[in-house]
Amino acid sequence: MNPRHVRSPFREAVVDLDAVRANVAHLASIVAPARVMAVVKADAYGHGAVPVARAALAGGAHELGVADLDEAHALRDAGIDAPLLAWLHDPAARFEPAIAHGIELGVSSLAQLEAMADAATGAGSAATVHLKLDTGLSRNGIARDDWASVVARAADLEDDGRIRVRGLFSHLSNTSPGEDAAQLQAFLDGVARAERAGLSPDVRHLAATAGALRMPDARLDLVRVGIGVYGVPPFGDGTTAAELGLRPAMTLRGRIAAVRRVDPGTGASYGYTWRAPHPTTLALVPLGYADGVPRQASGRAEVAIDGVRYPVAGRIAMDQFLVDVGEAEVAVGDEVVLFGDPATGAPSADDWGDAADTIGYEIVTRIGSRVPRTHLEGS
Ligand SMILES: *Cc1c(COP(=O)(O)O)cnc(C)c1O
Repeated sequence: MNPRHVRSPFREAVVDLDAVRANVAHLASIVAPARVMAVVKADAYGHGAVPVARAALAGGAHELGVADLDEAHALRDAGIDAPLLAWLHDPAARFEPAIAHGIELGVSSLAQLEAMADAATGAGSAATVHLKLDTGLSRNGIARDDWASVVARAADLEDDGRIRVRGLFSHLSNTSPGEDAAQLQAFLDGVARAERAGLSPDVRHLAATAGALRMPDARLDLVRVGIGVYGVPPFGDGTTAAELGLRPAMTLRGRIAAVRRVDPGTGASYGYTWRAPHPTTLALVPLGYADGVPRQASGRAEVAIDGVRYPVAGRIAMDQFLVDVGEAEVAVGDEVVLFGDPATGAPSADDWGDAADTIGYEIVTRIGSRVPRTHLEGS
């Protein structure tokens, strides 16, 4: 056993930055000549934004993407000066500091565009923007009916030197190949319209991880990959990370806090949703829903101890849950892996997603603040 594991703390999310780097390099090789924006929003999907951003750039990411400006400023404050785009703005957002820090701005409305142009005047330099067209997701993005007027206004503001339209983008719904193709066509129509209005963007971008992998036409100039960077499959159809050439970066683990032999009929955890079917051994795992372990997965998920899978027994509680290890010789202090790289025998984040009727994205992103992150590199 790896000596690191013996010393593992009570509960811990280990993030393998070599996996992040390798995943980005792999994705970059697949999508080339398109470039890669590594999406590190939501604290890099729970993996730690600053170390992940550095590893992704080392792996060949050309740019970084986040949802909001606070996330972008945190990366700049850490000294990361790569191209960086933020696309989801507080209605009261102050764009002047963002422009001053070279943060590129996604634009989802004429009002945002005007606010950015005003802020550029204050900042004394042009705002670098990416206009987002809503091609069907109906979330943010400029409505198709407003697109012509917004691109015309953007061209005027560019002539004035107050903004530079560096990019045009949209986002796919992943509903079906047909619906995604319709969104691609709507996007290309929008690009053509913007060019007729006099804009000459450097980058057109549409695909996230799923599109980057399965929809080559959608790669365009740049792909915005998030979940693939973390080695979690985007599809939810049973495709594994290994089949995609990716390696899960996060391992969620803890150490067994108690071991108890129980008689047949013994109930365990709240509500006795589980009772021992025969004499067996229960091991107590010191992670619960406060740590992001979904209660929904009670009685359904599995963990790995020394590479062997065991089922969760009964309800997952706030701080802890039980595992039925049968006749296995486990001891207090042994390592329990909730999820990690299936190549080690561990369940994947997707397995936990299935057990909780959700997706691997949510499993890795919701790990709680009580769980320390440990970043490994160069191992
Ligand atoms: C989160 C996000 C992405 C990344 O999506 P993945 O499926 O994780 O690759 C890309 N673009 C936008 C606009 C996003 O919000």
